[in-house]
Amino acid sequence: MSHNRESDRFETRAIHAGQEANPENGAIMTPVYFTSTYKQDAPAKPRGGYEYSRTSNPTRTALQQNLASLEGGRWGLCFSSGLAATNALLDRLVPGDHVVAGNDLYGGTYRIFKRVFERYGIRFTFVDTTEPAQVERALEPATKYVYVETPSNPLLRLSDIAAISAITKRAKTLLVVDNTFATPYLQQPLALGADLVLHSLTKYLGGHSDVVGGALIGNDDKVREELAFFQNAVGGTPGPMDCFLVLRGTKTLGVRMDRHGSNALAIARFLEKQPLVEKVIYPGLESHAQHALAKRQMKNFGGMVSFELRGGVPAGDALASSTRLFTLAESLGGVESLIETPPSMTHASIPPETRRAAGLADGLVRLSVGIEHVDDLIADLAQALDRARAAAGQLAAR
Ligand SMILES: *Cc1c(COP(=O)(O)O)cnc(C)c1O
Repeated sequence: MSHNRESDRFETRAIHAGQEANPENGAIMTPVYFTSTYKQDAPAKPRGGYEYSRTSNPTRTALQQNLASLEGGRWGLCFSSGLAATNALLDRLVPGDHVVAGNDLYGGTYRIFKRVFERYGIRFTFVDTTEPAQVERALEPATKYVYVETPSNPLLRLSDIAAISAITKRAKTLLVVDNTFATPYLQQPLALGADLVLHSLTKYLGGHSDVVGGALIGNDDKVREELAFFQNAVGGTPGPMDCFLVLRGTKTLGVRMDRHGSNALAIARFLEKQPLVEKVIYPGLESHAQHALAKRQMKNFGGMVSFELRGGVPAGDALASSTRLFTLAESLGGVESLIETPPSMTHASIPPETRRAAGLADGLVRLSVGIEHVDDLIADLAQALDRARAAAGQLAAR
């Protein structure tokens, strides 16, 4: 694959890395290679290095190269979902191994840790990774990964990747950063010292709510070899159409993230002024506890906004059922705006006591702010807040 059209600049690599016009017919777009197997010239002599599409497929190769370029890594590996990528990461471990993870994770990540891999003797310690000292205290000789989500889901807490990577390097353990919320356009974990980046491609990288996928990106070739073994041996690989859809998504990542970020900031400022809103959580607000770190670590502050409503679950439910443009749905990162209530939806698999202890209030609402016109989005939230205020009755009066 020639890289003569590549550049140091993100937006250019997003469109060209891993992709080239077809030398035979000039087609601009990467073909969707709908093939499970490949002709061999002699036994065990595949023509183009491809034998079977679980192991590798040219459309997937293009996506893997594209993602590696965007994250500034040497390699990328793609999976059928973000959780399949997490699964591959954990497949490398053996009973007795230990993982230090954030206590404010995507619910499905918490579930695969606790309910799948703990049964195989992998041990997990959950700490507040916003305090690097807590990470350091939790380390054991058997710690194989420190697993950090920043910004975290749904509380949008930030962890200092450079500070934690200094600790993991001293301890000779690997720092994994789930970069799903920020995307490589806003945050470059490998450049900040992380060893591996994990993505749910389902979210901003796909960007159009039409595909489920996952990826791991890194620099260490030995780790790549092990992960590629599990990618093939376990078989959670994406089909070529899924890879094509994500490749199409990454081309517009930069322009989408700029608009997601400006819309989200305007909405966060609007919500801050609403009497029914107890607290707005957005890294771009001066009131965010880690606003300074956000400015240092991220290019802008992303498209996710969380807030706590006065009136708890009833107010949250009323609001989430009253929006017209914001669709009540799980997931995030698409061009269309979504609203959800984490305690009863995405984070329902976390026990209520654990959830509250980690700071997830019952009245928590999460927005995935899309790229519609911001005035329409604000008008929709204003009318839904009116209805929620009526539903929450006296609670909202103060
Ligand atoms: C969605 C998500 C995942 C899991 O990805 P899937 O593609 O749904 O399997 C992991 N981490 C974060 C932060 C997510 O939002």
